[in-house]
Amino acid sequence: MSNLRDEAVGLLQQLLRLNTVNPPGNETIAAHALRDYLASHGVECELYARTPERANLVARLPGGDGPSLAFMSHTDTVVADAADWSRDPWSGDLADEHVWGRGALDMKNQAAAGAVAFASLAREGFRPAGDLVFIAAADEEVGKAFGLEWLCEEHPETVRVDYAVNEGGGERVELGGSTYYLCASAEKMSAPFRLRVHGRSGHASMPGIADNALVRAAPLIEALGAYRPEPEVGPEVEAFLTTVLGETPRAEQVLARLGELDPLAVELIEPLLSLTLSPTVISASEQRNVIPATCDVTVDCRLLAGKTPEDVEPIIREVLGEGDYELEFLERSGGTRSSLETPLWRAIEDWVGATEPGAKVAPVCCAGFTDSHWLRDAFGTVAYGFFPMRTMDPELAARLIHSADERVHVDDLELGVEFLRELARSFA
Ligand SMILES: [Zn+2]
Repeated sequence: MSNLRDEAVGLLQQLLRLNTVNPPGNETIAAHALRDYLASHGVECELYARTPERANLVARLPGGDGPSLAFMSHTDTVVADAADWSRDPWSGDLADEHVWGRGALDMKNQAAAGAVAFASLAREGFRPAGDLVFIAAADEEVGKAFGLEWLCEEHPETVRVDYAVNEGGGERVELGGSTYYLCASAEKMSAPFRLRVHGRSGHASMPGIADNALVRAAPLIEALGAYRPEPEVGPEVEAFLTTVLGETPRAEQVLARLGELDPLAVELIEPLLSLTLSPTVISASEQRNVIPATCDVTVDCRLLAGKTPEDVEPIIREVLGEGDYELEFLERSGGTRSSLETPLWRAIEDWVGATEPGAKVAPVCCAGFTDSHWLRDAFGTVAYGFFPMRTMDPELAARLIHSADERVHVDDLELGVEFLRELARSFA
């Protein structure tokens, strides 16, 4: 195994040294590095690009009629401000058993591990039961349809798979003295809306003759901030509770019961019990001496998987009460889930049980968005977020993602390669 470990470290270092901050992305340089690596192990792959500098890579190990399985990844990253880092974010340095750089956890680690697992299986002559597919997509972080969304539309045959493993889970956590690996089987829907509050403009020196829309917006914003939605237990939370508590308490008691177990369990589950409303942007008058006739408030709104803006709009209107305002949803993305009763779930359970006897898999729902959504949405793919991490503390990892000093422990990278190889084998 140690040579696969070195292989994964070398490939990850190479990927981290390529700046694929999105925007603008420039993921083609990463796709070329992966293509050259795969080609040097006899694996052919295809690049698909809506514009030349933003290529996606897909490699395929053909199988028979069995279920197809994809190792998913994205090659773009969020920005990094070198001034905040203790090492150059594009150094790919290996120091104290960690590989450093923007994307080391999100998610060039999984891209490198997926490519090494794929190439090593291919050169061993592995024959999967169904196609084994490696996808390194562009444009996950911004999502302007250069990446998986575009592939699903323009090249569906290349990415249509029955099962997929992606980012979004795999952390090893200890709760109440037992060990769990989290596996993300669903995502909340992001459905931000704009609240346009109306008033009447006027000269700011004579507020009495106007009706200030900004002032009118204030109580509405406070109402949104004070709202405490009814908790609801969906299938992922129910399965989580059954796994860690052995039963499902009533929705109102879930947080108290989890609090007795571990504060971390509360942190994990609280955002998954209801929609969340966070007012984040406000704009009113452009000029100091003009009282605004309108005030726009943008509210970040996340819905439980399976809910739609139409489901929650009446609730939001009730929270806001009467008033001269308009409410408009700006977009909707994500919000899909995969069943927990699947061969992929059982394969992950088997792997966890074999790797760490006594440990269990607990499902979670991602509060954020991943590319798993596009495959679920387009093809009904069973997609989970699972890339095992047991050496780095999950709370540290959560702080490093999208932040300074992002790095991955080499043991976790190696564990990821092992996991993906075993998964493909167990699926065959
Ligand atoms: Zn990511």
